[in-house]
Amino acid sequence: MMALSAARMGYRVHVYGPEADSPTEQVADRATVAGWDDLAALDRFADSVDAVTLEFENVPVAAVEHLARKVPVRPGAHVLAVAQDRLAEKNAALKLGVPVAPFAEVSSEAELAAAIARIGVPAVLKTRREGYDGKGQRIIRASGQAAAAHAELGHRAAILETFVPFTAEISVIAARGVDGTLLTWPAVENRHRDHILDLTIAPAALPAAVTEAATAAARALATGLDVVGLLAVEFFVTDSGAILFNEMAPRPHNSGHWTMEACRVSQFEQQVRATMGLPLGSTAPHHRAVMRNLIGDDSAAWAELLQGEGSLHLYGKAESRRGRKMGHVTRLYPHDTPVWPPAAEDLP
Ligand code: AMP
Repeated sequence: MMALSAARMGYRVHVYGPEADSPTEQVADRATVAGWDDLAALDRFADSVDAVTLEFENVPVAAVEHLARKVPVRPGAHVLAVAQDRLAEKNAALKLGVPVAPFAEVSSEAELAAAIARIGVPAVLKTRREGYDGKGQRIIRASGQAAAAHAELGHRAAILETFVPFTAEISVIAARGVDGTLLTWPAVENRHRDHILDLTIAPAALPAAVTEAATAAARALATGLDVVGLLAVEFFVTDSGAILFNEMAPRPHNSGHWTMEACRVSQFEQQVRATMGLPLGSTAPHHRAVMRNLIGDDSAAWAELLQGEGSLHLYGKAESRRGRKMGHVTRLYPHDTPVWPPAAEDLP
């Protein structure tokens, strides 16, 4: 979707990655299929482009540092180093005054026991690296379950955090330009099914104090981490209306797909603008929106979805698998929609 936005702005996109036949390759001008450690291929790639951005924050930092010697990479390696590591993320949030649920580092059995003693149960054990959509995490309901949970995660370096009995999950996407200009889209509510994002409701139907606190936190993180491009920040909302930082991603985010239809400048175009050092565009929505993900076999209903009220996006992934995001649908609503979020029968 970023490549499509770039093409619409007249750019040619060269995509680099280890996977052949990626959805991006289908719509890019050029593709290099090579490993993150292939320095000769990275050099040729860097020589062929004006700037580099990432659609995925787990690109090895060494590859990004290598590219950055030749060409601007936005977001930079310093942002990735934080966004790839849940412990670094939580510490960065703490340092910037963003509220975080109690957490502890777990790199050994002894630390796990100490963390359980300090944090208590229920708690969530999460690998520091490469977890997403509930992967790489285990809920610990009784202290006796901790060792088994750690073993199930392969004894990888982890963090333990308090289980938060949240009333809602929200996210705010900030966009920061090369010149430091900072814009945010309205806070949205994210509802999950089986740990995977199901619906995004834009804007979130929550008190202004809650969405303003989340927006301020996202701004503090984007500025404090010196991000160029987007920073999507996810929060839990507690029943007292407090927000707690969960995690962040320095790239266009699933909870920002609704901007494609509801804003003049989508999150994808914004990322292209920031990457190329262009002025950012307005983040003001001209409609409300609800986005629903098409997970696995949901996308089989595409012919029916085409006749519905929503705009259909299919990603061109070769194979549909359980839990895999295959596409999404976004439906727009007027700003004065009387019932928000819409009733079940009015959702996309
Ligand atoms: P994450 O990959 O950290 O975003 O976690 C995926 C989902 O698991 C979140 O969106 C929450 O629904 C749930 N979750 C993660 N951490 C916690 C927590 N500390 N307390 C309660 N639920 C959590």
